[in-house]
Amino acid sequence: MKNTLKTVGFKPGERNIFFHILTACNLSCSHCYINPDQHGTETLSKDRIVKWLELFVDSARKSNVIFLGGEPTMHPHLAYVIRKAKELGYFVTVDSNGYLFNDLLGRTSPDYLDYLSFSLDGPESAVNDPIRGEGVFDICVANIKNAVQRGYNVSVIYTVSSRNIDHLERMVSLLEKLQVKKFFIQVIGLRGGSLQSGNAESLQVSREQWLRVVPKVARRAAEKGIHVTYPVVFLPPDEHFECAANVAENFFIFPNGRVYQCPLCEDHPVHSYQIQGDKLIKTDGLTEDRFFQLEIEEGCVMNKLLQPDTIEYDQQGKPLYKISCCLLKQEIGGD
Ligand code: SF4
Ligand code: SF4
Repeated sequence: MKNTLKTVGFKPGERNIFFHILTACNLSCSHCYINPDQHGTETLSKDRIVKWLELFVDSARKSNVIFLGGEPTMHPHLAYVIRKAKELGYFVTVDSNGYLFNDLLGRTSPDYLDYLSFSLDGPESAVNDPIRGEGVFDICVANIKNAVQRGYNVSVIYTVSSRNIDHLERMVSLLEKLQVKKFFIQVIGLRGGSLQSGNAESLQVSREQWLRVVPKVARRAAEKGIHVTYPVVFLPPDEHFECAANVAENFFIFPNGRVYQCPLCEDHPVHSYQIQGDKLIKTDGLTEDRFFQLEIEEGCVMNKLLQPDTIEYDQQGKPLYKISCCLLKQEIGGD
């Protein structure tokens, strides 16, 4: 049957390079994860970006590079590094907040840039702009239209939080109208039990809200021919758990040279590798990779350490479910 849901393993043999080429941004979204103290404030030169791309290229396997920031289109040489990445054999994606600085659409082409991803956190300004900034919705939507018109493959990323989960459903008709091919639903934070009243400031959504809303919206979007990807998050206790860092190759690179394997660790100096003198060097000490081998009942060990309130226990102290690896996704819809 068409549009069946599948859980995507970590696509063994594939490597994903999430490359933050700068941390500067013209926006200040309420849920931004960029932390200049941990990630640096540099804008990498175009030559350095190419050298670092060369460190991770592997002609024997499919390699994806996702250029991120900050806002990557603020980099004056983004079009150049996109072309170089393509020449090195990468499948190239850019994640933009929608501003598309430096005439990106005119300076690169769909021959080099495989996917252009836009972040939208609501189906209209009234929902999106309080989260991402005044006037952002209109600019982002106008540039999605421009990109589609010029033949680019366009995807949209929606970060679910308590402020916009009730509006997710209305994204489907907008995406269809804009001819968006892929829809990535992310989560800002989940907690196991219901949200407490009096905690109105929390951006987290409850497990019940997530399970009630997200799979249904994903199915509706898939029925419209949109390919949807969203995190699995909760695994039943008897389901097999895997840490992506043990079975796949994901590298999260920051302008200060830190290279992480787990995105949950990015706020802490526990990175597995450091790029020094344009060489990739394994770091010593208490680094993230020491934790990837640990097996605990709750599933992801980093989640237990950093976000313990996402887990619920029964009266015997056994977890009611496991938290999956944050990189484990479900996919539904056409390619
Ligand atoms: S657009 Fe991205 S980098 Fe810029 S503030 Fe928003 S979340 Fe952060
Ligand atoms: S989120 Fe958890 S399971 Fe996934 S890579 Fe990080 S530590 Fe491993």
